[in-house]
Amino acid sequence: MSQVRKDAVVQLSYVLRDGKGEILDEAGADDNFLYLHGHQNIVPGLENALDGAVVGKKVKVNLTPDQGYGDYDPALVRRIEKKQFPAKLRNPEIGEMFQIEEDDGVQVWSVTKVEPGHITLDGNHELAGKDLHFEVEVLAIRDATSEEIEHGHAHTPGHHHH
Ligand code: ZN
Repeated sequence: MSQVRKDAVVQLSYVLRDGKGEILDEAGADDNFLYLHGHQNIVPGLENALDGAVVGKKVKVNLTPDQGYGDYDPALVRRIEKKQFPAKLRNPEIGEMFQIEEDDGVQVWSVTKVEPGHITLDGNHELAGKDLHFEVEVLAIRDATSEEIEHGHAHTPGHHHH
């Protein structure tokens, strides 16, 4: 019997709601959402809940931020003078993302506020600090290819991304 286990490629449909019941994200069967189990492709609390599940299994899981995208970190909010940005980046839209190379890798920042002289950037994941309510169904399970295991993620059929 095929079960969700390490190095399995799993197709899911899911609905993700926040603590107020508002839908944050969802995927149906047609969206072909795949992930590689055991490689931290999805949040830890959901990955644990799916371990050992079979096709057709429905899982409902409520996660606190520590099992989801982590706590919201106020230290990752920075108000920066516009003159520190290159001229073409000084009037960004709210929600625009910047990838900035730092000592310990690339950090993604999103623009949360634009003032005449300053831009405020937030480096938290957009779901950091949120309770996550997942309703998930396992649609398919297959063995990963050696290439997928090497890459640490699932490959969608016909999608040659590299
Ligand atoms: Zn790949």
